[in-house]
Amino acid sequence: MKALVKAEPREGLWMQRAPVPEIGPEDVLIKVNRTGICGTDVHIWNWDDWAQRTVPVPLITGHEFAGEIVELGRAVEGLELGQRCSGEGHLIGKTSRQSRAGKFHLDPATRGIGVNEQGAFAQYLRLPAFNVVPLPDAIDDEIGAILDPLGNAVHTALSFDLVGEDVLITGAGPIGIMAAAVARHVGARHVVITDVNPERLELAARVVDVVPVNVAEEELAEVIPRLKMKQGFDVGLEMSGNQRALDQMVEALVMGGRIALLGIPPGKSPVDWSRIVFKAITLKGVYGREIFETWYKMIAMLENGLDVRGVITHRFAVDRFAEGFAAMRSGQSGKVVLDWTG
Ligand code: NAD
Ligand code: ZN
Repeated sequence: MKALVKAEPREGLWMQRAPVPEIGPEDVLIKVNRTGICGTDVHIWNWDDWAQRTVPVPLITGHEFAGEIVELGRAVEGLELGQRCSGEGHLIGKTSRQSRAGKFHLDPATRGIGVNEQGAFAQYLRLPAFNVVPLPDAIDDEIGAILDPLGNAVHTALSFDLVGEDVLITGAGPIGIMAAAVARHVGARHVVITDVNPERLELAARVVDVVPVNVAEEELAEVIPRLKMKQGFDVGLEMSGNQRALDQMVEALVMGGRIALLGIPPGKSPVDWSRIVFKAITLKGVYGREIFETWYKMIAMLENGLDVRGVITHRFAVDRFAEGFAAMRSGQSGKVVLDWTG
């Protein structure tokens, strides 16, 4: 089969032939139809410090996918050949206290497909049946291929009650934009999204009913009276990983505000803790998706009017993967989806 492989410990990915994976009794084999390129895949392409520390070479990359089941392990129950699916790319252990309490997304032994284990950028993917998420007809393969990052957005956005609340999202990357769509869908009042990249803000405003603010040019504080908010934002969703964005968020929140943090800062970064203490702010770190509650909720929302298709800005046949990665690395794209069916 064709597979996009981190074949050498240097910048780039290589399309190679690889054997179709053999499945165990509790696995399924999935024929991959569409995949999404993630920021994580760009780190692996760039071969930055994190990738060098984390990713074994050679490795089939990729973790955002949709496809159909073409083989079932002999112990698999409740799934059928031909079932369209996406799936959770975090492979969890079943013995930790968190897993045994049903908090699968908090298992400390988690391993990621396309990061630690063979991934989804291939014509066929082996996945534990446990990780499979069947797709209803209403969700096509290209949306199925971006459920992983949509799940990050949904997990973060649903961390706090947003009904009637004023919500600030820092970072108009694909995940920030999808979080804005979710905030709108669940009934937030004002949704403001910040970035320093005008193209990203334009995309956000095209895709979702949000107020875009370019914090390189405009003061966030001026937006608060303009929207007739008295004090500031009730809830912040940090989706940039940028230190200045978090500082601005803390300043712009009401007393007793709540912040969910998804963005990953590049290293240790200073935080003005006294502001957080005196404003009585609640902070929540967010990792991955809740397995499988986030999947359940996002599919239900997609079946009931949540529309994130506009965040997909580029579609390529997989042989043009280099163009897809170039679009991602430009920082100007939304989601880039690769088609493996050709
Ligand atoms: P992205 O890099 O595409 O988007 C981040 C955006 O933040 C960019 O558009 C950038 O211009 C913007 N930004 C930079 N400085 C800013 C500032 N001062 N104020 C506001 N915006 C600023 O990332 P993405 O794919 O949308 O993911 C969002 C974040 O979530 C990333 O940090 C990513 O690493 C992280 N992430 C975390 C998890 C997790 O499990 N915690 C999972 C997936 C992604
Ligand atoms: Zn991803």
